[in-house]
Amino acid sequence: MGLLILASHNAHKLAEVRDILLPLVPALESLESVSCDIGEPVEDGRTFAENAIIKAKQVAQLLNLPAIADDSGLCVDIMGGAPGIFSARWSGQHGNDRANLELLLAQLADVKPEHRGARFVCAAALALPDGSVVVEEGEMVGKLRTEAAGAGGFGYDPIFEPSGYDLTNAELSANEKNAISHRRKAFEALAAHIVALLGCSR
Ligand code: IMP
Repeated sequence: MGLLILASHNAHKLAEVRDILLPLVPALESLESVSCDIGEPVEDGRTFAENAIIKAKQVAQLLNLPAIADDSGLCVDIMGGAPGIFSARWSGQHGNDRANLELLLAQLADVKPEHRGARFVCAAALALPDGSVVVEEGEMVGKLRTEAAGAGGFGYDPIFEPSGYDLTNAELSANEKNAISHRRKAFEALAAHIVALLGCSR
């Protein structure tokens, strides 16, 4: 199989996705390594899947190479799935993880433990230069704490306790979290399409 591009400037994401897809996809490269700066893509989709497709398609068409991208966020049951696609900018400041987390905790201050169910969702898309796309989703189900705990991870990890654990994502090691993550599930499901469409095998 030839080169496959991950449509992201995030080095942590590249490492995580490489870890999931290897050895299936030995030639996964970031935008940096092919000297491509797409700036901030306009993520104006209504769902994680639409946004993942927007990012993957933009890069596949620009570079004339197959590209993969993801979009993810936290969906809180009692909030009808919010922050959802607005997770990264919930407090109004894009990428301010601490402010986003503090606002969400304040909004849920009076919510009882039994009503604090939530899930991380990730959509992973593969786009080909001919315009065709496939997308898959993965989830990590759990509940939200009332206080932050742990120093690992990022985003809402310090307040999210995955089902079956009494630790938050931020208290798990990176390997433990990545083994059960929404991103792993989405990209593992996408791997089958990569094999079918790009002609490589496990
Ligand atoms: P993106 O998919 O990289 O744009 O992530 C969107 C936002 O969702 C992040 O800024 C985080 O706030 C949140 N998020 C997505 N995945 C995770 C995760 O694994 N842990 C904590 N927060 C996450």
